[in-house]
Amino acid sequence: SSLFPALTGDSPALTGGSGERVALRFGDRSLTYAQLAAAAGAVAARVRGQERVAVWATPELETAVGVVGTLLAGVAAVPLNPRSGEKELGHILGDSAPSLVLAAAGDELPAAPAGRERVDVDIRASGPVPEDHADDGDPALIVYTSGTTGPPKGAVIPRRAVAATLDALADAWQWTSEDVLVHGLPLFHVHGLVLGVLGPLRRGGAVRHLGRFTTEGVARELNSGATMLFGVPTMYHRIAEALPGDPELVKALAGARLLVSGSAALPVHDHERITAATGRRVIERYGMTETLMNTSVRADGEARAGTVGVPLPGVELRLVEEDGTEITAYDGETVGEIQVRGPNLFTGYLNRPDATAAAFTADGFFRTGDMAVRDGDGCVRLVGRKATDLIKSGGYKIGAGEIENALLEHPGVREAAVTGEPDPDLGERIVAWIVPADPQSPPGTEELAGHVARRLAPHKRPRVVRVLDALPRNDMGKIMKRALTHG
Ligand code: ATP
Ligand code: MG
Repeated sequence: SSLFPALTGDSPALTGGSGERVALRFGDRSLTYAQLAAAAGAVAARVRGQERVAVWATPELETAVGVVGTLLAGVAAVPLNPRSGEKELGHILGDSAPSLVLAAAGDELPAAPAGRERVDVDIRASGPVPEDHADDGDPALIVYTSGTTGPPKGAVIPRRAVAATLDALADAWQWTSEDVLVHGLPLFHVHGLVLGVLGPLRRGGAVRHLGRFTTEGVARELNSGATMLFGVPTMYHRIAEALPGDPELVKALAGARLLVSGSAALPVHDHERITAATGRRVIERYGMTETLMNTSVRADGEARAGTVGVPLPGVELRLVEEDGTEITAYDGETVGEIQVRGPNLFTGYLNRPDATAAAFTADGFFRTGDMAVRDGDGCVRLVGRKATDLIKSGGYKIGAGEIENALLEHPGVREAAVTGEPDPDLGERIVAWIVPADPQSPPGTEELAGHVARRLAPHKRPRVVRVLDALPRNDMGKIMKRALTHG
């Protein structure tokens, strides 16, 4: 079945002149559905018969055309992060062994991909959209995980998973062909590529990419016809900071149909500030490279700060305790690992049968490594990652996230990350890494310990506070806790 009904067959977007509707706009360049079909058709003709091809993920317009053309040909696409160093690029190219590298016509590539056979993507080229012979189980994308907890692994994502996740989100978010998305993320992860580009195209809607995210760009687009914004928490943080002095931005957010955040936890403090200034809630969703999207607050649901909503249609989700017991009571307290099963799942890590086998349970659930509780209404609240966010201190299991949220409420704290480190008495002690609002007078350990103890509980107070100029973050704005704890 076709991933893009609006590009193949007799879809409304291509008939009766509606192929003239804009599908993609990136800066001052845009493609209508008819132009996108032609340009992607040209790519499809060129990559047909290959097993997999890499796509250099900039500029965004050519990346989108390259990926869509590759998918139309029934071939798997491997997006390449242009900001990876030579070493990581070398690893990804060696691991995925693409037969071709697609890149924008005229663009010069760094050494690693330049050594491979290259195919130019030309957005003015034209070719017929091929007939779709691909199977639902065929790989659509091989996406490398963010590398937050270890070296990136290539997740093989079948066409079925792309279709299932996008249709489940359409249901949850009432996402239609009328929606115009404001996009400010790179296209080499599932958030930017699958949700941000393939999502609007599957719906027959439109996407406007900002290139680089700016709050001005968000205001401009939402105030001129765009209906929704998908972002990561660092973007919403910048929005929260800018709102008080920017009436255009307030108007933009207040008028948006949908504001969505994902890829990392949206700090409660930022969420509350956005609501206070605009009257709007942000819809949170939880997903990952291996499973695409698992949960979301529904557009017609209650977006409570700090929750990521309920399992999407078709997604089976369970919480499992360390001893293997499934948690059946929604008590908002008992912490377990999230395990998921459904059509949204990847099929395995490329060339990593060991890691693949370890990732699945005997009954086919994927072990996410994320810890959570479920509230009385079934809403999932993430506590953090098992590997880095669960601190065992003084006989308690403490999630880093709630402490980070409490620290961010302190006026002297701009950014915060919490980790555990070995302690002779406590097992682990809680360490708060902060970026102070005023570098001249950072709040001290006693001050922040008291602040957290009053809000949460005394045993959750940080014992050590370390002041930094900035937190180490990756391209998606995720805090790299490995870099904090391992120097
Ligand atoms: P690696 O697997 O290489 O360590 P990664 O897990 O960061 O990297 P991704 O697949 O891009 O790579 O990210 C998925 C993870 O992001 C999830 O497992 C979860 O920990 C986190 N995440 C996603 N959405 C949310 C959210 N709404 N709130 C909190 N955390 C989230
Ligand atoms: Mg991961």
